[in-house]
Amino acid sequence: MAGRINADDVTTVKERSSIEDVVRQHVTLRPAGIGTLKGLCPFHDEKTPSFTVRPALGTYHCFGCGEGGDVISFVMKVEHLTFTETIEALAGKVGVELRYEDGGRRDELGAGRRQRLLEAHRVAEEFYSEQLVDMGRLDARVGRDFLRARGFDGAAASRFGVGFAPRGGDDLTRQLRARGFTEEEITLGGLSARGSRGLYDKFRGRLMWPIRDITGATVGFGARRLFDDDRMPAKYLNTAETPLYKKSHVLYGLDLAKKAIATEREAVVVEGYTDVMAAHLSGVRGAVATCGTAFGVEHIKVLRRILRDEVDQAPARVVFTFDGDAAGQAAAMKAFGEDQRWASQSFVAVAPEGMDPCELRMSKGPEAVQALVADAVPMFEFAVRTTVGRFDLDTAEGRVQAMRAAAPIIAAIRDSALRPEYIRTVAGWLGVEIEQLRAEVSRAGRRPSRSPSGPPTGPGTPGGPPAGPGTPSGPSGWSLPVREEGDQPWDEGEGPLEATLPPPDLRDPIVRVERQLLQALIQCRGQFSLATIDALPVEAFTAPAHAAVFDAIRTAAPRSGGLSSVAWLTAITETAALPVRALVQQLSVADLPTRLDTETGRPPQRYLDALVLGVHDAHLSRQIADATAQVRRLQFAPDPDPERLRVLTTELHLLEVTRARLREDLIP
Ligand code: ZN
Repeated sequence: MAGRINADDVTTVKERSSIEDVVRQHVTLRPAGIGTLKGLCPFHDEKTPSFTVRPALGTYHCFGCGEGGDVISFVMKVEHLTFTETIEALAGKVGVELRYEDGGRRDELGAGRRQRLLEAHRVAEEFYSEQLVDMGRLDARVGRDFLRARGFDGAAASRFGVGFAPRGGDDLTRQLRARGFTEEEITLGGLSARGSRGLYDKFRGRLMWPIRDITGATVGFGARRLFDDDRMPAKYLNTAETPLYKKSHVLYGLDLAKKAIATEREAVVVEGYTDVMAAHLSGVRGAVATCGTAFGVEHIKVLRRILRDEVDQAPARVVFTFDGDAAGQAAAMKAFGEDQRWASQSFVAVAPEGMDPCELRMSKGPEAVQALVADAVPMFEFAVRTTVGRFDLDTAEGRVQAMRAAAPIIAAIRDSALRPEYIRTVAGWLGVEIEQLRAEVSRAGRRPSRSPSGPPTGPGTPGGPPAGPGTPSGPSGWSLPVREEGDQPWDEGEGPLEATLPPPDLRDPIVRVERQLLQALIQCRGQFSLATIDALPVEAFTAPAHAAVFDAIRTAAPRSGGLSSVAWLTAITETAALPVRALVQQLSVADLPTRLDTETGRPPQRYLDALVLGVHDAHLSRQIADATAQVRRLQFAPDPDPERLRVLTTELHLLEVTRARLREDLIP
């Protein structure tokens, strides 16, 4: 962790930094009277200059918009940097070695060494781009062809600083040594590595993209595989973590995009280097991409700082483009589930035929890339549509299933003022009555946990903000319920669910019955009616993993008519949440502890009925016990509420009737 920068050092940096020189990098200044310079304000649109700088005082002021301050506030504002980043950037330029309090030094790297590493990267970037355009270099031609095939000419390559790493082995290393960099400096930045025969280039025979930090300084590289005999199989290699390069924070293209992100109030997150290039060249100037890692909370922080919400501004938009790759979607959804406010600002753009922005620009032109971003739908809508898309809305059963799957997403919208609107919209998509959906949503809202005895499998994402009952949440926005396993596409990939389902405790007799019932449902679908499956609540399964498997069975069952056993198993597996897929497989092959009919090879119907009864009856009995206890407590309370007592007694009676009917139906 970086400590606080020593106050004296801040003063020194400020004194040594010339406000005139710094402002001149952004504004054309002309003398206007004694000791003042004027130019067009970089913070608001204007035709006549009202932005004034007084070098002797080290201050600036705009008479148009009222912005003003010193060199530090100017750099912070114009470069979108934090205070610490600003001081570090200025210190590097004026040669001040910063001291940090609280014992810390930024990344254990002094400002002097940091400058050396940055300089090494600048030299490397220059070297790589020279190689790419060196017509005498036959191997670089493959790189140029790669770019041309994706619609990028020489001007595009140089705008983004794309280069080529020679195949030789130590070309860059020799160059860096010749420029006076020490072995330690070269290896610390990840440009070269130490082998048995000395230093060798980290990247060889690859197309190179310089990855820059927000100030535009190159801190790492992304490298694309070009040759079949490349010993590194990965299509893309990135600089490993170094004192300069932290992949969880870095966004490729941010240095170019930050201005547009701030003024247009829109960031566009694409999936690769070529997509960032294609987007910018198509006029989508707020495009960035993560570098070899999923979009995460640190990236949210970086973008949010640039998008700074201010009262008088339009709400910010963050558009994610997905090429239909489930992993990318899952990652974005996950980042999004961790942050309430972020959710309401997030949009999703999916290109036709799953094309990425690079392909889109190639085949349909830059307008198509702009249209892709403009047509993005709110993440909420995307989440609901993706969820209901798995159901056949032409059948009544499909609509009911879709409604059940969509309800938890709407129930999770924390701003209750927004919910009615969403309910209306989603009811329209589904073709169900608004009232019907509202009831389902309030049911989903009342069901915070499926198994009262089991541990919660809810949000609690590691590293994320705490979520759950009692946690105060922002007034607007909503979070995704991580609860409804199997209902949501973002269960794919690494999720917080993996670690949260404990293995079923088979010492418990009722858990053993649950297991047999699941085995039977998977192995002998034909012997269970849809009504039987539908009548059984997911909560009836006490082991959370069993509940998750049954949830998948119940979701897949309406579409299982006429499916072969293999197709049925596939349907369950695909519907099941990732953490229980292995369990589904296991249950599909485990032997049922009963004698199979010698003619049909099937388990006796009576045995299967007994399993259903066992699980369902135990569940009802638990509910009856709970309700009875509540009624008793109320009866003996000093001041019993007669209305509440009446409701509870009716509920209790209903439960008893249901249990009696169940026993009647299933016991011959
Ligand atoms: Zn201004």
